[in-house]
Amino acid sequence: MLELFTGISELVLPFKNEDNNSPVEVIRDAALLVENGKIIAFGRGDEVKSKANNAKETKLGQRAVVPGFVDSHTHAVFVGDRCDDFSKRARGETYGEIAAKGGGILSSVKLLQNATHATIQKQSLQHLETFLKHGTTTCEIKSGYGLLPEHELRQLKVIGDLRSHTPMSLLSTVLAHVILEPEYVEVFCEHILKPAAEHKLAQFCDVFVEEGSFTHAHAEKIALAAKACGLKLKLHVDQLHDGRGAELAARLNALSADHLEYTLEAGGRALAKAGTIATILPGCSLFLGKGPWPSGRKLRDVGCEVAIATDFNPGSSHIPDLALCGAMAATRCGLTLEEALWGITRGGAKALDLHDRGCLRIGERADFVLLNASDWRKLFYTPGSAPIRQVFIEGKSVNMAPAAASY
Ligand SMILES: [Zn+2]
Repeated sequence: MLELFTGISELVLPFKNEDNNSPVEVIRDAALLVENGKIIAFGRGDEVKSKANNAKETKLGQRAVVPGFVDSHTHAVFVGDRCDDFSKRARGETYGEIAAKGGGILSSVKLLQNATHATIQKQSLQHLETFLKHGTTTCEIKSGYGLLPEHELRQLKVIGDLRSHTPMSLLSTVLAHVILEPEYVEVFCEHILKPAAEHKLAQFCDVFVEEGSFTHAHAEKIALAAKACGLKLKLHVDQLHDGRGAELAARLNALSADHLEYTLEAGGRALAKAGTIATILPGCSLFLGKGPWPSGRKLRDVGCEVAIATDFNPGSSHIPDLALCGAMAATRCGLTLEEALWGITRGGAKALDLHDRGCLRIGERADFVLLNASDWRKLFYTPGSAPIRQVFIEGKSVNMAPAAASY
């Protein structure tokens, strides 16, 4: 069935505009033609209309359209919250002090391990409904709160089951999150990574590389095992100090290197040379209220492709709003609004190795967001309250869920 969307004041396409070197192209007075959920034509309204015999027409009221957002880094499957930690941190307590009193990441692990599959699924679905409301149409979710093999694999199964409860596309990653003991690397490779790949529970493997967590040598070992299983590699690096994690990600040919708060110029250059996507997570800097903001500007200036993701999780970024992260990328990380839009759409898709979305090109999925504004830049102009009117997935308007019932 042919569907014609007219009355688009500005259609924003994350193509490189060679004329002005902008990472986006804006077509005014535009239309989109969709068949079976895919874009078959886009451009000026009159031109597209001439190709749309017998199409069902939806008038969008002279509003801007941008691609559906692609959140390439989340930890959206978890149970409960860490509001107590948040409150303690605001009173000046350190992570160590909070963890010593039973908070921190291990409290999320305990809650997940003790919850039923149904409870994990129900609470996680609320998070996804909030993502959708904020314009996210594709999202990656990591394991990492189960830690023990049975719980890690169960967390991945929940992600799989969530696919039949949401119109969003979900990608899953098996994450080496916390090192319990030196032998944990073997346990992770043999009893978590391998079965996850065998049962097709994950498409990616990720490792949290930091002082006191997984070392470069651990990451190299896990990367080899992931490669042998056919999983693509992503890495959490340089969040708390410059651990030369960007260079490690480049050397291991990772698909993306995420965080990068402390990455220096040499690390950025290594990522650019390797073609590893640099993913920044400004929500963490906002939520934790400390540490440097990742420099999207420096990364782009040395040639990196910069994606932006939420890192949505209960402890360090309880922020499901990718447009807000785009606004922070512009106000705190040095990106232009065009680069920020690229980062939450095409950049996210590239960080997930997806080539059928993020741009609204011919042949791509018709996942798009209709703004309640004629000027697309308004997407970032009211941080935390982006004017999102309607979300379309494969050309169909998806129900806008009410604000999540309870966090
Ligand atoms: Zn993360």
